[in-house]
Amino acid sequence: MSPDELKPLVRTIPDFPQPGILFRDITTLIGHGAGFAHSVRHLADRAQAAGAEAVAGMEARGFIFGAAVAARLALPFVPVRKPGKLPVPTLGIDYALEYGQDRLEIDPGAVSPGQRVVIIDDLIATGGTALAATALLRQAGARVDHALFVIDLPDLGGAARLADAGVTVAALMA
Ligand code: 5GP
Repeated sequence: MSPDELKPLVRTIPDFPQPGILFRDITTLIGHGAGFAHSVRHLADRAQAAGAEAVAGMEARGFIFGAAVAARLALPFVPVRKPGKLPVPTLGIDYALEYGQDRLEIDPGAVSPGQRVVIIDDLIATGGTALAATALLRQAGARVDHALFVIDLPDLGGAARLADAGVTVAALMA
């Protein structure tokens, strides 16, 4: 299936999680066996072309696609976690959300110096989450210059922000 054929498998839910937000829900995409498989294949092709030596995915929906891509390419998977989940001393980064703050953490031993890590998440909006993950992985010594998403919401400027940080963004659909 082409990315154009995958797009109708993503459903749009109005007023979630707040009134006025149109939430792009990938539950229906991963609930379609061929749709999920082809999404992972397209992402894996791009990760391989980007020279990935490891794949990092953000909790929680980034785990679904990131881990599948890593396994398909037989590469290490680096979970970028919500705070307080990892049982070892972590590297962490606080970042601003539209309302409030959030935090991401990794096991610093999960990446090696100079390792080329490709970031994968379901969706990029403002780019805040992916920028925070980039900074965190770089702090751990990784080389991060590609990030892949199933969906890009280009009006929110995330890809441009990542480009300013030296990260090339690609997405299967907008
Ligand atoms: P950003 O940090 O780029 O503003 O937002 C992206 C993060 O929020 C991603 O981790 C993504 O999973 C989540 N997110 C924001 N809006 C949506 C949406 O409409 N659909 C989905 N599936 N995730 C969203």
